[in-house]
Amino acid sequence: MRFNKWVVSLLLIMMVMVITACTSNSENSTDGSSIENIKKRGKLVAGVKFDTYLFGYKDPADQQIKGFEVDLMKAFAKKLLGDENKVEFKEVTSKTRIKLLDAGDIDLIAATMTVSEERKKQVDFSNIYFLAGQSLLVKNDSTIQSIKDLKGRKVSTSKGSTSAKNMKKMAPEAILEEYENYADSLTALKSGKVEAVTTDDSILMGMQQQNPDLKLVGGQFTKEPYGIAVKKGNSELQKELNAFIKEIWDNGQYATLYKKWFKKEPAKELPTDSVLQTN
Ligand code: GLU
Repeated sequence: MRFNKWVVSLLLIMMVMVITACTSNSENSTDGSSIENIKKRGKLVAGVKFDTYLFGYKDPADQQIKGFEVDLMKAFAKKLLGDENKVEFKEVTSKTRIKLLDAGDIDLIAATMTVSEERKKQVDFSNIYFLAGQSLLVKNDSTIQSIKDLKGRKVSTSKGSTSAKNMKKMAPEAILEEYENYADSLTALKSGKVEAVTTDDSILMGMQQQNPDLKLVGGQFTKEPYGIAVKKGNSELQKELNAFIKEIWDNGQYATLYKKWFKKEPAKELPTDSVLQTN
């Protein structure tokens, strides 16, 4: 009898210990991206693309991660930690980015990510820092001119993207092939496996610049406003990012970086959530 009581108490203690461990674990991962913790850690961990020329890509010449979003995150590290080098870049794809954020592997996502009402249920977004629109990339000699010409034709894009979702809705008769990332989607076009790549025109422009035998067609048929995503509920980091975007917009650093990557002046104003599509 006495022994039983002892066993029960021991089991209870063990259960409490397990529950505490689990709770503090999940707390830790949220805490991981508090500004205090980022400062304690001494570096920001940013999820960026590694295969998206102009936004986030690993330069094969020197293995460095470069691009507009990479530069934005260096500037954010400078604001937060006083040094633009205090940022570690981790590769995300359209499919992996929210999972990596939720797991606490990254503090934020700066990776051509469209702000949508649906995604807002999973993550919190900063204000919009870039406006793209979905388009098509084809070979120079292609007869495809617009989304209407895709019936029965193979089109590639990346898994987990709004591009895939939009295609299913807007061109349901196209044969959509979803790849792990945009590098593979592009390879499919170059090798003739598909006749077009579809995603944001901003991303396609980067591909086109590196492949002059390809052209953009069909104009913008959606609006894709980009925001920086933080873990749901991390309003502290979200506010800091909003302050940062406003600051670099006002002091001209945004325009400098924009011109560096896109070789033209940015729009007069950054868009607001009013551009969001209700899908
Ligand atoms: N902006 C679109 C999206 O967030 C396409 C680009 C991407 O997949 O990162 O899904």
